[in-house]
Amino acid sequence: MQYLLSRASHAILLQLAQQRTLCAFDFDGTLSPIVEHPGQAVMGDQTRSLLGRVAALYPCVIVSGRSRADLLGKLRGVKGARVIGNHGAETEAAIPKPQRRLEQWKTSLELELGALPGLWVEDKGFSLAVHYRQSPQKTEARRRILAAARNLEQVRVVGGKQVVNLVVDRAPDKGAALAAERDRMGCNWVLFVGDDENDEDAFALDGNIVPVRIGRKQRSHARYYLRTQAEIDKLLELLVLLRMPSKLIPG
Ligand SMILES: [Mg+2]
Repeated sequence: MQYLLSRASHAILLQLAQQRTLCAFDFDGTLSPIVEHPGQAVMGDQTRSLLGRVAALYPCVIVSGRSRADLLGKLRGVKGARVIGNHGAETEAAIPKPQRRLEQWKTSLELELGALPGLWVEDKGFSLAVHYRQSPQKTEARRRILAAARNLEQVRVVGGKQVVNLVVDRAPDKGAALAAERDRMGCNWVLFVGDDENDEDAFALDGNIVPVRIGRKQRSHARYYLRTQAEIDKLLELLVLLRMPSKLIPG
């Protein structure tokens, strides 16, 4: 993995600025710091302002495990970015929600996991998130959730940080959603920044892609990394500056 803010990576960032590049970002842990409860996640003022400038200069997509409505609320004030929720399953297109399927899953999970403390199931319209961040025995909780998920029909399990996500198996993942946006917008390059297991599909996208992970990790499809979430501002700023070269010339 190569550090994206190093001198050696400057050429690839310049390449992105000179091509028709789709700039794509995950939300939690990427644009906003990870917090104890997902409801509390907020993007910093600086990030919000820089993201708005990037979205004005590049085709831009935010793709997250959150529901679109939730994500739109978090991105208030950022104009021009396309917003995709539910791990790639929820685009702007009017797709019917798999409501009956999610209700069946919820009933089955409640029967099998009901007695486990610190667990809560979030219904996001196109997927369920089983959170175990507040569980006193996290390893055991995760094992039990994954075992229960194996009994569900038509499910795709998407990992996450102290959460197990359950998505309908035929729904597009983040990678498929990004590929569709790239083709729709006629882009020939993609920059994608994410931080989590559920970003690996997008890191592994075919074609000209610069996959960036927040935090270095051995087993990842991402070829570049940022050291911390806070460094996202530096990257956004570079994307803006490199596309507006006149700003670099004094006077
Ligand atoms: Mg994330």
